[in-house]
Amino acid sequence: MPARIVIVGGGIAGQTLCETLRERDEDVEITLVCAEEHLPYDRVNLSELLVCDEPVEERLGLRPEEWYDDQDVTVLRGRRVERVDVHARSIGLADGETLEYDRLALATGSNALVPPFPGMDLEGVHVYRTPGDCDAIREGARTASKAAVIGGGLLGLEAARGIQAQECPVTVVHLMDRLMERQLDADSAALLLPAMCELGMEVELERETECFLGEERVEGVRFKDSSTLEADLVVVSIGIRPEVSIAETADIDCNRGILVDDRMRTSEDGVVALGECSEHRGTVYGLVAPIYEQARVAADTLLEVEEGSEYHGSIPWARLKVAEVDLVSIGTVNGERSAVSHDQSGRAYRKLVTQDGRAAGAIFMGDTRGTEAVLEAIRTMGEVADPLEWLTEAAAAGPEDLPDEAQVCDCNGVCKSQITAAVVDEGMSSAQEVMKVTRAGTACGSCKPLVKELVSIAGGGDEGPAYLCACRKQTREWLANNIREQGYQAVSEVSDACGTGRECGLCKPALAYLVQELADNHHREEHHARHINERVHGNIQNDGTFSVVPRMHGGVTTPDQLRRIADAAERYEARLVKVTGGQRIDILGIKKQDLPHIWRDIGMPSGHAYGRGIRQVKSCVGTDFCRFGIG
Ligand SMILES: Cc1cc2nc3c(=O)[nH]c(=O)nc-3n(C[C@H](O)[C@H](O)[C@H](O)COP(=O)(O)OP(=O)(O)OC[C@H]3O[C@@H](n4cnc5c(N)ncnc54)[C@H](O)[C@@H]3O)c2cc1C
Repeated sequence: MPARIVIVGGGIAGQTLCETLRERDEDVEITLVCAEEHLPYDRVNLSELLVCDEPVEERLGLRPEEWYDDQDVTVLRGRRVERVDVHARSIGLADGETLEYDRLALATGSNALVPPFPGMDLEGVHVYRTPGDCDAIREGARTASKAAVIGGGLLGLEAARGIQAQECPVTVVHLMDRLMERQLDADSAALLLPAMCELGMEVELERETECFLGEERVEGVRFKDSSTLEADLVVVSIGIRPEVSIAETADIDCNRGILVDDRMRTSEDGVVALGECSEHRGTVYGLVAPIYEQARVAADTLLEVEEGSEYHGSIPWARLKVAEVDLVSIGTVNGERSAVSHDQSGRAYRKLVTQDGRAAGAIFMGDTRGTEAVLEAIRTMGEVADPLEWLTEAAAAGPEDLPDEAQVCDCNGVCKSQITAAVVDEGMSSAQEVMKVTRAGTACGSCKPLVKELVSIAGGGDEGPAYLCACRKQTREWLANNIREQGYQAVSEVSDACGTGRECGLCKPALAYLVQELADNHHREEHHARHINERVHGNIQNDGTFSVVPRMHGGVTTPDQLRRIADAAERYEARLVKVTGGQRIDILGIKKQDLPHIWRDIGMPSGHAYGRGIRQVKSCVGTDFCRFGIG
């Protein structure tokens, strides 16, 4: 049995492997080495950071910091591995430290493919891969007058939508004659194009980029046919390049990715590779779903499980994460035989592809009913006698018809049987709890309704009590009684007495509110327990800026206050000033870093417009002025 396993790379692959290893073996020493400063986070939902600049860990963190302590996993953050010495069984970090291992896992992922276009290094040109890229794109989009996204694939379209959220016009430039050509056939791509244009983006197809124009800052794009496009923000999203450099330092066999066999073993003894850095049977998967299967196999191999599992490849599966367009593509989309149901008026397109009489691929656009059943059939190469009839039946099938192995949450690799087991075997009764424990539905969220239905079916139609938070099986009423009876004054007191001593990001604000309410504002304030809105005294908006509402009892104010509000609104470039229904003034579009300054300049207390309390109280000026006033 290996005593020390070192995992290089804290992406979804590294984290999943880490969790799988710990589930199987309590004792093995696990060290996770992350080049990034962040704890492992959910890269799939990175687009959220294009809209909102919340801290990565809060928004996308896969596990809270405490999890690593609880699981006895050592995480080294901001530490890059530079070399691997397979003979000495050690890795060398960039800061000079050396770590020894018994078994090594390479989960170094990919980098964005950077084309050799002249001008790629101009200010305002970005790739789309990390939280830092998202920050740069988001900030750039706030001031840019026109953006171009090079690449009309899944990520390019997602990036374009994120840029639009900052009210920056955007053109998607694509080399091929249709969008998402790897996932769509010509007919569905022809439907996607107008759908994207309706969202306000421009799309230029069959455009080959030659270079980016500008001296220091980007000013535009020039194409091979010498035509140009103006743009002062450019995002390049044309693919990935597996990160194989440290494998190469150890002469581990690499092609495009690090070559692995069916047990995820590399060419070197004791070293496995998984995730986007690995190449299995000629394929590098740029998707998250294969990682869950690969991690199970890699864990078996690392723990030397006799007759451990094997990985035989995955069916590529992708969902476009643009809220307004429902689009799923599975497997081979251009096969020898296919059935298509195409409702042109409603823009619904459903296609099932078969090969040798077996399900091989599908496209669903506008109507994604039956996706899980079809995915499972394709995965198991189910026989399909009549594709059209089969497609119709899949649409009508309910969650109860799904086979146990059907993958419900592809982002987190959770299948129906795991959800059922959480209810039947582990006694969970609410979808909230099941989602928390299995992680189904916690990434892109598209499977949440299905998870809820499955929980309800498994529980015999009963949804259990609604807990304050899934991480604690306690209802609001139960907690409130305890707080009242024991007179707790702070969240930490409640945590110590009624919980694990720690709270998750959702529990804390809810408990803080409960304690404050029950202690009638005589509670002990704990800054860390507050939601971001309460910490900064602003209300976070969909673009990541904040709205500021000074207190104004009954709408009563003074010329001096109004002057200060007006000056501050101008000084901090408010995007909108609005009189609210609650007789106050809302100053919208304030940047997070300006919040302390605007509050100082306004010199009024916060109206707590973000609080979950009563605020819509209408009042008249009262008996001093009003002929009908009563107080
Ligand atoms: C914006 C975006 C949206 C996406 N959306 C989807 C989607 O909807 N569906 C889907 O299936 N997939 C999606 N993907 C792809 C998916 O995110 C990846 O397949 C997955 O995250 C790959 O995980 P990984 O752990 O293999 O690699 P990575 O996420 O790249 O993680 C590798 C980690 O290893 C670290 N590392 C590299 N070298 C070293 C070193 N020498 N020392 C230490 N650490 C190192 C890196 O810094 C990185 O943190 C998306 C990707 C992006 C960028």
